[in-house]
Amino acid sequence: MTTVNTIAGPMEVSDLGRTLSHEHLVSGMGGMDKITQLYDEEEAVRRCLDALETVSTAGIQTIIDCTPLDLGRQARVFERLADSSSVNIIAATGVYRWVPLTYYSWNEDAIAEYFLKDIEEGLESTSIKAGVIKLAWDYEYLLDDGVRSPKFQLEKVARGAARASKSSGVPITCHTRALDKLGMPLLDIFDDEGLDLRSITIGHSNDSGDMEYLTTILRRGATLGMDRFQSTLPEDEKERRSRLVSDLIKLGFADRICLGHDSAAYSLNLGPPEGGGRIEDRTCWLPVPDWEIKWLVENGASSEEIDDLMINSIAGTFAAAYKMANK
Ligand SMILES: [Zn+2]
Repeated sequence: MTTVNTIAGPMEVSDLGRTLSHEHLVSGMGGMDKITQLYDEEEAVRRCLDALETVSTAGIQTIIDCTPLDLGRQARVFERLADSSSVNIIAATGVYRWVPLTYYSWNEDAIAEYFLKDIEEGLESTSIKAGVIKLAWDYEYLLDDGVRSPKFQLEKVARGAARASKSSGVPITCHTRALDKLGMPLLDIFDDEGLDLRSITIGHSNDSGDMEYLTTILRRGATLGMDRFQSTLPEDEKERRSRLVSDLIKLGFADRICLGHDSAAYSLNLGPPEGGGRIEDRTCWLPVPDWEIKWLVENGASSEEIDDLMINSIAGTFAAAYKMANK
């Protein structure tokens, strides 16, 4: 038995079904729920329910919400969705790309303890337990100038996440800047911390088209998140991203590639200054099931390979992480 924490309680990994590996229900910034002119919880819940209902009719059974506290995660929204969502939702602990100054004086183990509280006791004051640990490495990683530099802090937080993952059996999912090949230094740290790299998802990798980089991640044993597929992408870019997945399937990697959009049901990011979130799009999680999967099938992917992409790849990250903690 391998269990995973969802917002409605633990469930069997084998029951997750078709899963989108990297999405956001509500995102923005930490503390936004206290600014009423920016954020409206009723509207957020309504938009989430609409988008969840829409994606469930496309056959999606589970969504992984990759929103840590500092990216505006709303535990109270999860509480309200727990009974009413037609889709399983897995919530995240972890940290976004701008490591909060609060953590600068903490060591790796203190950071691990903090993540473990979210995993073992619950997010904020709720009993909703995190099911994944989110890390985000972007441009900031290139700033390297001692202990106050983003690079130093990002590496420290990654080690903290690794230790929390190893002791709790919860996998790590990473936002990476693929053009800078940031999956590599992350995997070096996870290797050094003794993690099973199968449990690690190196996300946003379809921002790159560098097959050498992508296959190196896969050959090292990690899981590849081809998880940016927003509805706003031009058709030729959707096709480029789909062809990349198709080429990797042909190399035999279907069961280690997971798909998603990196889209939010309600987001203040890039939203208007008067607040209220970006324009509503209840179909924000449909391009993968309705466009990419169709393209892959038309271009030769078998139903087993689609199941590998949509079910087995991501389930494998939970199974590998669980095994590390429950040997
Ligand atoms: Zn994201």
